[in-house]
Amino acid sequence: MSYTYDEENIFAKILRGEIPCTKVAETESCLAFRDINPAAPVHVLVIPKGPYVNMDHFGAEASDAEIADFHRMISDVIRQEGLSEDGYRVISNAGVNGMQEVPHLHAHILGGRILGPLLSA
Ligand code: AMP
Repeated sequence: MSYTYDEENIFAKILRGEIPCTKVAETESCLAFRDINPAAPVHVLVIPKGPYVNMDHFGAEASDAEIADFHRMISDVIRQEGLSEDGYRVISNAGVNGMQEVPHLHAHILGGRILGPLLSA
């Protein structure tokens, strides 16, 4: 499998500072920001700064440090947003079947209400 990264995707533009975001957390290799169209009271996106399309691309090509930082940031945001006690959902959509809109790896962190069943269709 070879992966092609689109440098003009909207999250690449956010990372280059060309488009604003509401930042929640940042490290050397990751950024967390609020989703522009929240699907729950808390809806934060965590992205690696590196040019990875999706989770399988990331796992195949990212460094151990990038992978550790990404997972650590997801955990940090969950606690920072106060979601640990009542629960939350972490989703990463990929490709056509996953209905991924933005082709830069992102984890959706959702919480603040009962989120319903995993899949509606
Ligand atoms: P996905 O379908 O998993 O690719 O989700 C992409 C997500 O990015 C959607 O939930 C959008 O609301 C969100 N999104 C798109 N543009 C922006 C933006 N400029 N800032 C924050 N979130 C965005």
